[in-house]
Amino acid sequence: MKAITNDIKNKKLFLLDIDGTVSFDATPIEGALDFLAEVRNLGGKYVFITNNSTKSIEDYIIKFTKMGIPVDDSSFLTSTTATATFLKQRYDEQLLYVLGTKSFVNELRKYGLKVTEEANDSLKSSIVAAVVGFDSELNYTKIENICELLQTTNIDYFATNPDLSCPVSYGYIPDCGAICNLLKEAVKREPVYLGKPNNLMVDMACEESGYSKEETIVIGDRLYTDIACGINAGVDTAVVFTGEAKYEDLKSTAFPPTYYCDSIKDLYIALRD
Ligand SMILES: [Mg+2]
Repeated sequence: MKAITNDIKNKKLFLLDIDGTVSFDATPIEGALDFLAEVRNLGGKYVFITNNSTKSIEDYIIKFTKMGIPVDDSSFLTSTTATATFLKQRYDEQLLYVLGTKSFVNELRKYGLKVTEEANDSLKSSIVAAVVGFDSELNYTKIENICELLQTTNIDYFATNPDLSCPVSYGYIPDCGAICNLLKEAVKREPVYLGKPNNLMVDMACEESGYSKEETIVIGDRLYTDIACGINAGVDTAVVFTGEAKYEDLKSTAFPPTYYCDSIKDLYIALRD
C-alpha cells in the first residue's frame, strides 16, 4: 500500500467504478475527463464496472456522452451483463427462476436465457437455478415462490450484487443484498453474488480486451467491493477518497489497495508526468 506513483504508466486496462470515483450523479469529478483523455492518448482502454443493475448499457452511454466522455458498447460492464453472461455459459438453455424487475427479466432473455417468474409444480422440476436482481417491483408472491424453490429443491442460487442500499433523492432504499438478506432469514441460504467483489467482471474485461492481469488496474471508492474485487482477481488496485473510503480506513481494512490517492485527478497527474 503506497501513495499513487507513475508506475501506473505500465497499465493498459483501467477498470473504473462510477459513483464516487468518476462522477456524482451526472457530474464528473474534477480530473475525471483529463484522466480518461490521458488513457486514450497513451493507447490504453477504460471500462466502467458497476454493481448498479438498474441502468442498461444504453442508459450509461447516454449519461456518459452528456458528460463529454467518449464511450461505446465495450466501455461498460454491469452486474446484470456479468450475471447474464455467466448464466448463459453455465446453464445455456436450462430453465432459471428470476426474481427481478421486468426489465431485468427482458435483459436476461436478450442473452438467450430461458427464464420464468412462475414456480408452479409443472415448472418446478425443470428449474435448475434461481437468480435475484435489485427488484423495485417486488411483491409477496415472488418472495413465496423463491422461498418454496430454495427449500424444496437443491437448485443453485445467484444474485447480481451484494449492495444493501441504493441511494435515491430522499435517502436510501433496499438494494439486491437487502432482498437476499430478507430471504436468508426464512430459508437460511445465501446466494453467490456475481457483481463486485466477485472477480467475474474483471476477468471478463481482461478476456474481452485481451489485456493481461499485469496490465490491468481496478480503481474505486469502496474498499470492500471495488478494491476487494481487484484483489480477488489478482490485479493492482487504487482507492480514491472522493466517495465512501477515507484515508483512516486504510489502517484497519481487510482489503488493502496497491495505491491510494485523494481523487482521480491524482491518477491523471501520475499518468501525465
Ligand atoms: Mg462507488
